[in-house]
Amino acid sequence: MASTEVVVIGGGAAGFFGAIHAAQAPHTRVTLLEAGRQPLAKVRISGGGRCNVTHHCFEPSQLVLNYPRGSKALRGAFSQFQALDVVRWFNAEGVKLKTEADGRMFPVTDDSETIVEALMFAAKKAGVVLRNNVLVQKIERLGDNKFDVILKNGENILCDRLLLATGSSPSGYAIARSLGHELEPPVPSLFTFNIKDSKLHELAGVSVNPATVKLLISNSNPEKKKSARNQLEQSGALLITHWGLSGPAVLKLSAWAARELHDCNYQAKLAVNWIPSLKVEAIKQILLSAKTEQPKKFVSNYCPVDISLRLWEYLLDKAEVELEKRWADISNRAIQQIVNVLSASEYAIAGKGVFKDEFVTCGGIRLQDVNFQTMESKICQGLFFAGEVLDIDGVTGGFNFQSAWTTAWIAAQGINAEFYSPLPIAKNADQ
Ligand SMILES: Cc1cc2nc3c(=O)[nH]c(=O)nc-3n(C[C@H](O)[C@H](O)[C@H](O)COP(=O)(O)OP(=O)(O)OC[C@H]3O[C@@H](n4cnc5c(N)ncnc54)[C@H](O)[C@@H]3O)c2cc1C
Repeated sequence: MASTEVVVIGGGAAGFFGAIHAAQAPHTRVTLLEAGRQPLAKVRISGGGRCNVTHHCFEPSQLVLNYPRGSKALRGAFSQFQALDVVRWFNAEGVKLKTEADGRMFPVTDDSETIVEALMFAAKKAGVVLRNNVLVQKIERLGDNKFDVILKNGENILCDRLLLATGSSPSGYAIARSLGHELEPPVPSLFTFNIKDSKLHELAGVSVNPATVKLLISNSNPEKKKSARNQLEQSGALLITHWGLSGPAVLKLSAWAARELHDCNYQAKLAVNWIPSLKVEAIKQILLSAKTEQPKKFVSNYCPVDISLRLWEYLLDKAEVELEKRWADISNRAIQQIVNVLSASEYAIAGKGVFKDEFVTCGGIRLQDVNFQTMESKICQGLFFAGEVLDIDGVTGGFNFQSAWTTAWIAAQGINAEFYSPLPIAKNADQ
């Protein structure tokens, strides 16, 4: 029986996982092409060098809630291969994962090299032919349903199935376009907020958990569904930095509002609720009680709500309340001003900052053009997709690798489907 030639473009998490599983089938030869000198570059640096492999969330309907883009398509995909399957797979490869208090899962070694080695070893065991330093420049569709993979060095490789796992690389997007696919425009996701406020910067290192951050976008589309508008408000730990705000609440908001923030060039208003557990009226009552119960205390020395004294002083200053005043002398107007800064301090976002532990691209291959039962293109028969090249991205916490493992695993099953039934070739697939 003639062997099936499979070429996987991209030696990242998705490319490796897809190649390893595609190579399990008999009569299948898998060649994995990586442009870089070393494969798995992002796995190495991921999770601050520890690799946050997945998230301890083993219920597909819950898991999908962590994807600003792709949640609907991933619902069925996770019922085929989910976080628990990833844990089991790594376990079988000798890699034990541990779960941290917030649900993130890491190798027990706390070293991403453990994951790199496991993937490299599994690929070798499966007989995957790995070629580094090989940039795929172009793909030509041949009349007999084969692909001609043209490399930058002038070489070419013929194959029957092609898995595009090129992450957010422009060359991967160009290949997809040349085969008839359209893209949702790629823009960054998972970033911190730059805020020009030197007094806030002095509090660098202070964190508040939970806080709520809400994006105030004036031109926000009123047609947008209420659920989508709600996603412009996120809660979680908030970290003050030397340049502005970070922490899970901000990172989640940057992901859910990635497109809105890009469209306003990262210049927007943000409202921070420093004590979301209390309603506005309850905060007011607590402050009024402080006035009657602690009248002699200086307002700067006595904070009646659950935030640090340093943050309290900063917020009093923001509310334009004199720090030397005693509680007895605080006017009702000043009480209202303090309520306002505690529940809705406004900041001007003046740009995006980096988050070194994780970064991902929003946008990519349009999901309606991909069959999520197999990850095969609906436009170009024999072409499969996996990983970040797709218009899928998750919030921080291991969700981005999870979608890479899942889509790659499904693509491998699609590539190897015993009764592979070719799709009718669309008009533009032969170009
Ligand atoms: C600093 C950082 C930390 C992160 N940490 C985490 C984390 O802890 N947990 C998590 O879930 N997510 C994390 N992410 C996100 C995660 O790394 C990505 O979502 C994931 O790596 C995507 O995998 P991929 O295989 O689709 O793409 P990539 O990892 O980007 O791999 C694509 C590969 O394709 C190659 N390539 C591209 N074009 C061509 C071509 N034309 N020819 C040949 N090769 C090509 C590239 O060189 C690259 O190696 C992190 C990202 C960053 C940047």
